[in-house]
Amino acid sequence: MTQSGSRRDSRSREAFEEAKKVIPGGVNSPVRAFKSVGLTPVFAERGQGSKVYDIDGNEFIDYIGSWGPLIMGHAHPEVVEALKKTAERGTSFGMPTELETVMARLVCERVPSLDIVRMVNSGTEATMSALRLARGYTGRSKIVKFEGSYHGHADSLLIKAGSGVATLGLPDSPGVPEGVAVNTITVPYNDLDSVKLAFEKFGEEIAAIIVEPVAGNMGVVPPAEGFLQGLRDVTSRYGSLLIFDEVMTGFRVDYHCAQGLYGITPDLTCLGKVIGGGLPVGAYGGRREIMEQIAPSGPIYQAGTLSGNPLAMAAGFTTLSLLTPAVYEELERKAARLEEGFRRNAEEAGVARTINRVGSMVCPFFTAEKVVNYETAKTSDLGRFTRYFSRLLDLGIVIAPSQFEGMFVSAAHSDEDIEVTIAANREALQGL
Ligand code: PMP
Repeated sequence: MTQSGSRRDSRSREAFEEAKKVIPGGVNSPVRAFKSVGLTPVFAERGQGSKVYDIDGNEFIDYIGSWGPLIMGHAHPEVVEALKKTAERGTSFGMPTELETVMARLVCERVPSLDIVRMVNSGTEATMSALRLARGYTGRSKIVKFEGSYHGHADSLLIKAGSGVATLGLPDSPGVPEGVAVNTITVPYNDLDSVKLAFEKFGEEIAAIIVEPVAGNMGVVPPAEGFLQGLRDVTSRYGSLLIFDEVMTGFRVDYHCAQGLYGITPDLTCLGKVIGGGLPVGAYGGRREIMEQIAPSGPIYQAGTLSGNPLAMAAGFTTLSLLTPAVYEELERKAARLEEGFRRNAEEAGVARTINRVGSMVCPFFTAEKVVNYETAKTSDLGRFTRYFSRLLDLGIVIAPSQFEGMFVSAAHSDEDIEVTIAANREALQGL
């Protein structure tokens, strides 16, 4: 770990300058640029367990976890071994492999609402494909999404989006045609009355509601009591589909995903992140009669050269196999300890913080307000967050460079990591 103020970053600075010459903004995904916190991004060299080492030789306890996938930590030996073994036999075939069936079976066994599942290459592909399916299946065009939720960067979902879009303060992206945008209805998260109003007005035209069952892209916001059930009821009443975007929550918040945790059965589910174990994967699945509308069994088209890729399946399958119910109990215990420590520190320092947490997704906001949606998340003091982020980095802790993202605790975080993090948090809060 680095001492406060002793973090070196000259190599990361140089690397960033080089990257900017050949990559837009120097990064292949916007949030990595540390733009909103005004710092040079940390260029990773390697990761092991709970730690990331950068090209300047700094060591960090990592709570980004590749933005969610690394629930078992970096370079887990069993995942690495599975990748090596698989790679030796060929990395892609464009022909079906048995491993795809093994993986699909496991995913369907664990996710209550899945009869069958189609693998894709990213969360974006999963949500985009699920929307096309919902529209094709219902013959309707409109969708309902929630302000500050992020579902990947497909056109119809880039309206009032969260995550990097929120971090960079871009309410809507140029390049999304108006004709597409008009079909996206956005309402505040956790606001069932607004959802009902939207359905009273447009109910017969709404193909689906897409929702993060625990919002994770406006910071972490748990669903209010009855909210998810309310969405289930209203979609059923109007013949619309309920899509759970569990790209972040899937196998993160519970052995049976968020739908298992809250006992709600969506029609379609999108997955990503954890199911790829750190390799590029997404998936969408659900009721057989709906999913069978996808080509080749049905007319709704969706395809992928690398979909079901053997390396991705191997990393994903191994990761899911490691994720026993006992692992989730440990994640809960460690994350609760972190939350408690943060709460104590905030009180001692007299800093207003609201800490939201669901399982291993932890999000301390810099606000005294209860955070229940994007509006309330935005009451956070972003200047404070920026200073806090920078101090934590100097103390050897890396979190996502945005107030609108959570921290991911992994199975690789030790009790010592948690204690070191709580101590760093205490120090970082002083005189903010
Ligand atoms: N849905 C949710 C809920 C997400 O959090 C994300 C990514 N953070 C996506 C979709 C998009 O996934 P990807 O970045 O793999 O395209």
